[in-house]
Amino acid sequence: MDRVQLAIIGGGLVGASLALALQDGAKARGWRIVLVEPFAPGAAYQPSYDARSTALSYGSRQLYERLGIWPQVAPRAQAIERIHVSDRGRIGAARLSAGQEGVPALGYVVENAWLGQCLWQALDPEVVSWRCPAEVVRLEALEDGYRLQLDDHSLLDCDLAVLADGGRSGLREQLGIAVSHAAYGQSALIANLTPGEAHRGQAFERFTDEGPLALLPLLDDRCALVWTRAHGDATRLAGLSEQAFLGELQQAFGYRLGALRHVGARHLYPLALIEAQEQVRPHLVVLGNAAHTLHPIAGQGYNLSLRDTLVLAETLLQSAAAPGDLATLQRYGARQLRDQQLTVGFSDQVTRLFGRPDPWLAAGRTLGLLGLDLIPPAKRWFARQAMGLGTRPE
Ligand SMILES: Cc1cc2nc3c(=O)[nH]c(=O)nc-3n(C[C@H](O)[C@H](O)[C@H](O)COP(=O)(O)OP(=O)(O)OC[C@H]3O[C@@H](n4cnc5c(N)ncnc54)[C@H](O)[C@@H]3O)c2cc1C
Repeated sequence: MDRVQLAIIGGGLVGASLALALQDGAKARGWRIVLVEPFAPGAAYQPSYDARSTALSYGSRQLYERLGIWPQVAPRAQAIERIHVSDRGRIGAARLSAGQEGVPALGYVVENAWLGQCLWQALDPEVVSWRCPAEVVRLEALEDGYRLQLDDHSLLDCDLAVLADGGRSGLREQLGIAVSHAAYGQSALIANLTPGEAHRGQAFERFTDEGPLALLPLLDDRCALVWTRAHGDATRLAGLSEQAFLGELQQAFGYRLGALRHVGARHLYPLALIEAQEQVRPHLVVLGNAAHTLHPIAGQGYNLSLRDTLVLAETLLQSAAAPGDLATLQRYGARQLRDQQLTVGFSDQVTRLFGRPDPWLAAGRTLGLLGLDLIPPAKRWFARQAMGLGTRPE
C-alpha cells in the first residue's frame, strides 16, 4: 500500500496553497505530498474556481510574494485603490484609500479561475502528486497516521491528513468533529457585471435594510457583485430578466457607477458562520472552509485561510518531529487562535451590525460610519482588518 507524509484532501484554493507553501521544505526533507481532488484542473466546473472572484487583502499579496507566485497572479489582479462604505438612506459614508494607508493598494480582486490556475501550475510534480479526479470516501485513524479510502477503492496511508474539503465537509462529520453553525438566513447572489462608468479601482460596500452588497472592481472594467438577501428574495432576483435585475440593483446601489449595463450568470450561496470545534487531532488538521466558513461580505475567508496555511506550513517545517506530531499541530493551533478569533469576530460583527433594519442600530451605524471617516485611528483599524494586517505588529 502506498504511504506518504502528507495527504491533502481537497485541491481547492486552500489545499493547493498549502501544497505550494510546503513543497520546497518538503523536497529538502524527502516528504511526499498527495493532493486528492474530484475535479480535474481545467474542468468546466470546479467549486473553488467557478465564476467567483476573491478580494485578496494586501497582506495576502505579501504572502503570495513569499510563495513566489505573485508575478503569475499580478497580470490578472485588479488593484483596489479606494473603498467606499455606505448605508442606503443614511448620510454616513466611510472612505478608505491606499494612498492614506501608505500602501500601493488596499487589496486586489482576482477571478478564482485564474488564482486556481496559478496555484496548480506552480506545484512541483516531483514533490506534489495528484489523485485527480478522485474523492476520499472514508478516513480511518491509525496508530501512526490516517488511512484514506478513495472512491476507486484504493487506499492511501499518511502521517498527516489535512482536511481541506470545504465548508460542507462530509469527512469532518464522519470523524465526529462537531461544528457550531449559525445560519444568517440569507444567500449571497454573485455575478459579474458591466457598469456604465469606469470603476477607477474603487470597491463599494453598501448596507441596505434588505442586506449588504459589495461591488468590487475587476479587470476589463467589469465589477464583481456579492449581494446578500433573504433566501427567497435572492432566488427571486436570480430568476429575473437581465433588465429587471439591473433595475433592482440600480435602486439598491444608486448611480455611483452610472447606469448598470450588463450582468453575467447569477449564482446563489446560502450563508452561515460555520466553525469546527476541533482543528487538530493527532495526525489530522482541519483547514480552510472546513475549519471556518465566514460571511463573504467582509471578504476575509480565503485571506484568513491563507494566513492559517502559511503558519501551518512554517510550524510543520520548523519541527524536528514527523508531520503528524500532536504537539506540533497544537503549536500551529495556538499561533493562529487570535487571528482566527479576531477575523471571525470582525466578519460576523460587521455582518450582523449592518444587516439589521433596527432604527437604533441604524443611527448607531451612521454615527459609526461618520466616526470612521472622521476619526483616523478608527478608520485605520478598520482598514488594517480589511487589508488582513490586523493582527500583525505595526
Ligand atoms: C460568494 C462568496 C464570495 C467570497 N469572497 C471572498 C473574498 O472576496 N475574499 C476572501 O478571502 N474569501 C472570499 N470567500 C471565501 C472563499 O471563497 C473561501 O474561503 C475559499 O474558497 C475556501 O477554500 P477551501 O479550499 O477551503 O474550500 P473550497 O473552495 O470549498 O474547496 C474544497 C475542495 O475540496 C474538494 N473536495 C470536497 N470533498 C472532497 C473529498 N471527499 N475528497 C477530496 N476532495 C474533496 C472540492 O472539490 C473542492 O475543490 C467568498 C465565499 C463566497 C461563498
